[in-house]
Amino acid sequence: MNETRCPVCGEPAEIRQIAKAFGRGNDLLVIEDIPMIVCRTGHEQYIAAER
Ligand SMILES: [Zn+2]
Repeated sequence: MNETRCPVCGEPAEIRQIAKAFGRGNDLLVIEDIPMIVCRTGHEQYIAAER
């Protein structure tokens, strides 16, 4: 059982699978199921994705 904490403030956070779109037009790339840390204080942080 692993505990997830926000890398920004260290508070407990949850992981959600989200979809994110990068680029625009013909270069639009949609990546689904990105594991994202969602902090209860409102921070959002990717776990293992480049920006
Ligand atoms: Zn936080």
